[in-house]
Order: sequence, then C-alpha cells, then structure tokens
Amino acid sequence: MYTVNAYAAPSATEPLEPTTIERRDLGPKDVLIDIAYAGICHSDIHTVRGEWGEIVYPQVVGHEIVGTVAEVGSEVTLHAVGDRVGVGCMVNSCRECENCTAGMENYCLKGNVGTYAGKDKDGTITQGGYAEKIVVVEDFVLRVPESIPYEAAAPLLCAGITTYSPLAHWKVGPGSRVAVVGLGGLGHMAVKIAHAMGAEVTVLSQTLSKKEDGLKMGADHYYATSDPETLKNLRNSFDLIVNTVSAPLDLDAYLRMLALDGTMVNVGAPPEALPLHVFTLFANRRTFAGSSIGSIGETQEMLDFCAEHGIAPEIELIDASQINEAYERVLKSDVRYRFVIDTATLAPAN
Ligand SMILES: [Zn+2]
Ligand SMILES: [Zn+2]
Repeated sequence: MYTVNAYAAPSATEPLEPTTIERRDLGPKDVLIDIAYAGICHSDIHTVRGEWGEIVYPQVVGHEIVGTVAEVGSEVTLHAVGDRVGVGCMVNSCRECENCTAGMENYCLKGNVGTYAGKDKDGTITQGGYAEKIVVVEDFVLRVPESIPYEAAAPLLCAGITTYSPLAHWKVGPGSRVAVVGLGGLGHMAVKIAHAMGAEVTVLSQTLSKKEDGLKMGADHYYATSDPETLKNLRNSFDLIVNTVSAPLDLDAYLRMLALDGTMVNVGAPPEALPLHVFTLFANRRTFAGSSIGSIGETQEMLDFCAEHGIAPEIELIDASQINEAYERVLKSDVRYRFVIDTATLAPAN
C-alpha cells in the first residue's frame, strides 16, 4: 500500500481538508502515477455535497488527472516509467457487456467504475485525483502528448472529452454550423475543438461578458440569450447545438434553432425533468440527444487531436489550500475557465 497526501471532504457540509489515503499495491496490470495536476470539475462539488446521492466519507474527488508514471506492474505493456499520462472520469468497467466489448466503456451497462465515489472491483470506494498518487489499471490510463502544456492538460480528461465525443459522433467538420450553449469549463473546450474541426461556431451565453474570450477561442459569432430576440433570430440555423448548461432552459426555443436533421445534445445535466413539445421535433426532423463523457479510445483520440491542433484549456492554477475558495467561485461561474490544483502543494495532514 502507498500512503499519500490528499485533500478530502469529511462530510457533505464541511470544507475539504488535508488528509492521507491508501492506494492499493500494484497488481500485474496496474500503473502507479505521481499526480502533477488535478482539475476541478463541477461534478466534484455535486458529489462531495451529496447532491447526486449519498456517498461514503471521507471522499477525495477529482477526475481530471495528469501525472507521470512512477512504477508499473509486471504485465504492463501500454505505459512505461516516466511517461506523461492522464486519468479521466472512469478507472474500470465490466469489460463484458455489449457496450464494453464495442469499446464504449463509458456506456458500460453495469456502470463503469467512477474515478471517485465509485465501487472498485475489490469492493473499495474509489478516491480521486486531489492526491499525490493514484493506482489505475493500465488500459484506463491515457497517453498525454508532451506538446500540450503540462499544467493545462488535466481539464481535457473530463471537459475536453465530454465535448469532443459528441462533436466527433455527429461528424462536425468544415461546413458544420455548431452552437455552444454556455461558455464555462465545458463550453470553452467545445468552442476550441469545434473550431479546430473546421466548423462555424456560435456561442450562446447569458450575457456578452465573455464575448472577447469566446472570439479568441475560435467562435465566429457570439450572442446573449438574455436578449429575447436572439433565439428567434437564429431559428433553423444550426446543425448541432451542444448544451453545456446544467440549469433548466426552454427546450422548444432552443430546438427551434436547429436546421434540417439538426441535433441538440445535452452534456450539461439539469436535475429536473424538462418539458418538450414533440411538434418542435417534427419540424426539420430534429433530434434531442444526450452524451456522457467518452470512451477510452475516443479520449486518446481527443488528446492526440488537441496536441496536433495546439489546443489546451484555459486554466487558473491554484494551491491545494485554495480548493474550498475555488469551489465557491465555480458555483458563481467565476472562473476562466477551469481551476487546476498543483498537487505539489498538498499539505501533509497534521
Ligand atoms: Zn467532470
Ligand atoms: Zn460493461
């Protein structure tokens, strides 16, 4: 076992605090990673606060992880000591169901093993990336090209793949008209990736406060949804709308912006059910869809794509002692555009 410094939530209502956790001994297929950076995803906050169901405390979260391979098990062939690697939202899956055998572990029918607050194969509760080290089975470890700035790479492992997967699945390319709803951690990656794929990109944000940033990231157009005319003026204009917003919105009004055979895909997850008039779908043969992270294969493809196109997340690098403050800022959407923890600053617990 490895005892490592980490930052954990002691309960749903208390701030995160320094602690130590145990990582399992290396199995033959396991990789030990010295974590360098961990991104802060909104899901981390929902999870530690028990908003997505009860969890076991103390809990370490974090599923945007990059680091260096420190040790490998005797049968590891995919990674070597010293390699720069990443771990995203899952660390295993059943490997037997129809979806796993099709290479879509993110849609494992038995539920993939989440990087944190998940039940691992040995029955233990998984602990995430706000820690010095992690042990992960080799085929759930990604290769992170060194041309991607090290401290900025972590958010690719959740925000990057969550937006890349639907853009790739719906075959975005030159000539595609893509709208991105919300310019946060997910949205800013959607803009950069869709632009690199050759699409004409429109950002739909509540206000124009981030317009300059959005255009710099590659957006061609930028509109405020607080203006009631915006959605009306954009009717029948898009082939794909990627909705990164978790707040409820007027689905019909958004769907009406889709052109013939257009799709609106949700990667943001509003907790409540949303009403929808099916007649809105009849017009233009529209589709309303969802998408959940991406497979390991797609995640590697995304990392290689980002390296090739010089794409990296915009980040604010913080010390571990700033995690609680960062959470409050994430909840106020006051981050440009992702917090990343420098795990070298994880203070030893007293
Ligand atoms: Zn996430
Ligand atoms: Zn499965």
